[in-house]
Amino acid sequence: MSDRLYYADPSLATFEAHVSDIREVSRSQGKSLWQIALDRSAFYPTSGGQPHDTGMLIATSPGGALLEAPVLAVEEDEQGEVWHTTPKPLLAGTAVRGHVDWSRRRDHMQQHSGQHLLSAVFYRQLGAATVSFHLGEMTSTIDLACETVAPEDLERVQDVVNEIIAEDRPVTMQTIPRSEAEMLLAAGKILKLPPREGTIRLIEIEDIDLNACGGTHVRATGQIGGLFLRGTERVRQGLRVEFVCGIRAVVTARRDLATLTRAGSVLSVGRLEVAEAVERLLAENKAAHKVTQKMTEELAEFQAARLLQEHPAGTGLRLVRRTFADRDGGFLKLLGSRMVAAGPQICALLASTAEVPARVLVAASADCKVNCGSLLRDALAAYGLRGGGSPGLAQGQISHVHLEELFDTVEAGLRHSA
Ligand SMILES: [Zn+2]
Repeated sequence: MSDRLYYADPSLATFEAHVSDIREVSRSQGKSLWQIALDRSAFYPTSGGQPHDTGMLIATSPGGALLEAPVLAVEEDEQGEVWHTTPKPLLAGTAVRGHVDWSRRRDHMQQHSGQHLLSAVFYRQLGAATVSFHLGEMTSTIDLACETVAPEDLERVQDVVNEIIAEDRPVTMQTIPRSEAEMLLAAGKILKLPPREGTIRLIEIEDIDLNACGGTHVRATGQIGGLFLRGTERVRQGLRVEFVCGIRAVVTARRDLATLTRAGSVLSVGRLEVAEAVERLLAENKAAHKVTQKMTEELAEFQAARLLQEHPAGTGLRLVRRTFADRDGGFLKLLGSRMVAAGPQICALLASTAEVPARVLVAASADCKVNCGSLLRDALAAYGLRGGGSPGLAQGQISHVHLEELFDTVEAGLRHSA
């Protein structure tokens, strides 16, 4: 079984080892992936909410050539063996030098130790226990067993956490027998224990937290670098709290600042005035929309009167057929309903080619003995299209090419039934 070097020294980034076992895990498109077990390893396998390390295994051939095997993933099996996934096979017995990608590991240590501290402060300040932890690519989350936390409480928790980070309190590790750990659990000194047998590894943040954990941690809280709460969200098991620590907090803040700066420059205001500027714009937009709506209604009224003037009242049906290239479906509806409301025996056949496919509207005065809905539905069905509406007003869509042909059919139908 591999000796896990990170248990004793989480800051170990390079180490010497020998390959103890190898197995092929997958083969696709002529490429194989292998898993290698080592007699000792500083690589952390995915477990306890903390993702695996990545890095490199370097072997020297008898001729002196270097063989580099990238470590893409690390996992542990049920027996506790640690397997390093790599595209290069290394035979059992090969001497290797391992290099852990330190920026990735340091990031994970900052988030994981930050999580222990944050969970402890939430518990002490608000009595809210942590039920799960997820260390993600961009941010990390804990789920608290509570419904909600007031904004001022969130701020207080964040302040307390950052004070403890600034105090640079020692973070220490010890391994104890399970029986002792169970006594600590019974005394309420630790909140939970993993189900497995054997010794228990405890991580302690001086005077604030004692936790059974197999993860890698910083040596003192100062190395967490700072913690920033990003928001909360209700989830099934409680309240999800999103946070970032250390360098990740700086990267996140830089990205947020870039977004805010860009928004400010688009709006020609300072970063702190962005929210007010957006609110102002939305209000202006709403007012402008009201004005446009009113003018569109007036325009429809005016255009309805003019179209009806061109088709004066006579003995029979006043059928107005018109296609617009610059009006939308909303305008067609306004225009059509105003036209047919203006008098008896009026039918409107309107289309808009501003949209693709074209929009079609058929409307008739209440006294016309026609059914616009079924007429349009049947006419569109001939093209395999759907559409229709009420006897007085129907709508549909059709390609520009077939528009006139469709109107001929509908017009013939209207004249026939009227
Ligand atoms: Zn932990």
